[in-house]
Amino acid sequence: MSFKSLGLSDALLKAVQEKGYTTPSPIQEKAIPLILEGRDVLASAQTGTGKTAGFTLPMLQILEATKKARHRPIRALILTPTRELAAQVYDNVREYGTHLNMRSTVVFGGVKAKAQIATIRQGIDVLVATPGRLLDLESQGALSLKRIEILVLDEADRMLDMGFLRDIKKIMSLMPSKRQNLLFSATFSKEIRQLAGGILHNPALVEATPENSTAEKVVQKIYRVDKGKKTELLTKLISEGNWKQVLIFTRTKHGANKLTKKLIQSEISAAAIHGNKSQGARTKALAGFKSNDVRVLVATDIAARGLDIPLLPHVVNYELPNIPEDYVHRIGRTGRAGAKGEAISLVCIEEMEYVRGIEKLLKQQLASEIIEGFEPNNTTEPGKPNSKKSNFRNSQRQRSRGGSSENKNRNNSGRNRNKNRRR
Ligand code: AMP
Repeated sequence: MSFKSLGLSDALLKAVQEKGYTTPSPIQEKAIPLILEGRDVLASAQTGTGKTAGFTLPMLQILEATKKARHRPIRALILTPTRELAAQVYDNVREYGTHLNMRSTVVFGGVKAKAQIATIRQGIDVLVATPGRLLDLESQGALSLKRIEILVLDEADRMLDMGFLRDIKKIMSLMPSKRQNLLFSATFSKEIRQLAGGILHNPALVEATPENSTAEKVVQKIYRVDKGKKTELLTKLISEGNWKQVLIFTRTKHGANKLTKKLIQSEISAAAIHGNKSQGARTKALAGFKSNDVRVLVATDIAARGLDIPLLPHVVNYELPNIPEDYVHRIGRTGRAGAKGEAISLVCIEEMEYVRGIEKLLKQQLASEIIEGFEPNNTTEPGKPNSKKSNFRNSQRQRSRGGSSENKNRNNSGRNRNKNRRR
């Protein structure tokens, strides 16, 4: 299968060739012809599958073929959950449209609106936006959505997770009802199906990857370790494995900051990316990571959503997410566009219930290992009958003979567990 056989125009084929793509990815193969036919599409695709080109290429082709007015109303809107994803999709729109006479821009919060408004005033064909800033600008009269012909909801599941449902509904009400709708989502929850039911007309269903599955090329591994030893184990893995580029997930912003500081203390260059960082700091951290100046990027789920880091070899879950779908999103950062990747989770006893949730979602068991020198002290899950009690006691006795530091660890882990419950 070639891009040409999908029915793309010469201008788009040239742009694709310049990007170095030789064959369409499965999602592109399926979605592009359907979108070119004018169908509404409901697509299940994770980041890393080439979904952005999957909707952008046919969208640009349709807009180009039906170009009419001299003045430029906004004809296509791509909604994304995060600023980073918006910026990245916009880059893609520009690159794929490089041989077309098409104008596009991106709007998101966290930066001043003045320049965004000025660009829109000059006339824009394609707008990439996050919901909040889009509604702000619309309510100020800085833009109109009344001439939208194509709407793309990118990473719709994350938009719902982030509480954008009301904003999305409001945005829908500002657009003409006759338009082409494309909804992309990594997972197909009940809520997504409901949203799709309200927006899409007779949609073609495209599933590039089986529902809720993880990229096949990603090797997934769990290292069982006590909470208090995670940083030490992580440092060892990075240093001894000579990992050059690793994305690490923490559950909280505070956790991301703390870990980043510790890694830097261990002379591993690191930067944190999360919602409390300014847009400038986020962009700088990502740029440093992409250019290999920063070895480790520590991120929270929301901030990491949609980051385009090609060929990322290592993803580490320093803490597992309590929402199993987030695990799928996280490990979608590695093994991208056919490349091999490794996703490692450092799992302490309190997180075993998350492991079970993830395994249930993936319908697969995750391989679990213990690294020498990092054997967990605590192997009894909270709230579970203590079947290994006698062994555990024995090992405790052995340890207390050897010294008190591990006991201290164990006590800490109990305290943290309570803290976790409160969170
Ligand atoms: P996406 O899932 O849209 O975020 O794309 C993931 C990565 O794959 C991006 O770095 C794209 O540039 C790249 N990509 C998209 N389509 C192809 C293709 N057909 N062949 C190779 N790489 C691709």
